[in-house]
Amino acid sequence: MIINTTGEIIDGFFMLGHPGVPVYLMDGDNPALFDAGFSCLGELYVQEVKNILGTRQPKFCFLSHSHFDHCGAVSTFKKYFPNIKIVSSIQAEKVFQRPNAIALIKQLNKASESMVQDSIISGGEANEFLQFDVDLTVKEGDLLKISDGISVNIIETPGHTRDCLSYYIPEKKILLSSEAFGIQDPTGYIYSDFLVDYDIYYTSMKKMVPLDTRVVCSGHGLVFTDKDAADYKQNSLSACKRFFKLVKKILAEEKGAVEKVKNRIKKIEYDGKPGFKQPESAYLLNLEARINVVKKRA
Ligand SMILES: [Zn+2]
Repeated sequence: MIINTTGEIIDGFFMLGHPGVPVYLMDGDNPALFDAGFSCLGELYVQEVKNILGTRQPKFCFLSHSHFDHCGAVSTFKKYFPNIKIVSSIQAEKVFQRPNAIALIKQLNKASESMVQDSIISGGEANEFLQFDVDLTVKEGDLLKISDGISVNIIETPGHTRDCLSYYIPEKKILLSSEAFGIQDPTGYIYSDFLVDYDIYYTSMKKMVPLDTRVVCSGHGLVFTDKDAADYKQNSLSACKRFFKLVKKILAEEKGAVEKVKNRIKKIEYDGKPGFKQPESAYLLNLEARINVVKKRA
């Protein structure tokens, strides 16, 4: 099954907020959140967490990487859930300590409010991104037993960013891969978002293919279950190879002129596409990085 709406996915595991910028909740003795979406949706995530947990509170928030749309609501979580422990990679923790990174995360969160206007619950202080401290850093191979029958296995999956982590819950066969695999749009097209390095990105995906997965949660838009989960992993690998070849071909045709390549690729994978999309400015910035990754390797 391919799920594109919020709600319970399998027993005790939920997608919250907005499918475009989801927060996931794994219930248990110590409930855990995964990622923190947009700042402006903080109140919505919190309300949905409360609807499920009642007076209980989440004990962990596992962050996948330091991009603005995955850490936006951390300060809102800390305000409502004062004992929550924020978990990230060591590299992401370093990013969250840099004033210029914080300024950019704040600015991009502000700029994204118009994209999800209908989902915003209330304005005010909680809607602004605030700097936060990471409480626990984790690394490849760590296994955190968080509840009876629920542990979180840490998988380092760089390539989209250097600080990307994926999380695997072996008892439930749930993989939270965020943007380590491609992002599939409503037409089935998969964006291969290797902003750092093609080979590192591909290797990270390959590392996760053999995992026994009943559920694979992507960072934006969709959750895949059972056979669709297995297909999504394989499709991400082939989409990545295909995109690399396409960019390489267009780069050759345009004699390495990145601006021209950008225009042609944008027509193929962004213009006229339905559904929730990242803002054009963010898309173009990322596209340039992806083209440069291909250029460097080719
Ligand atoms: Zn990202």
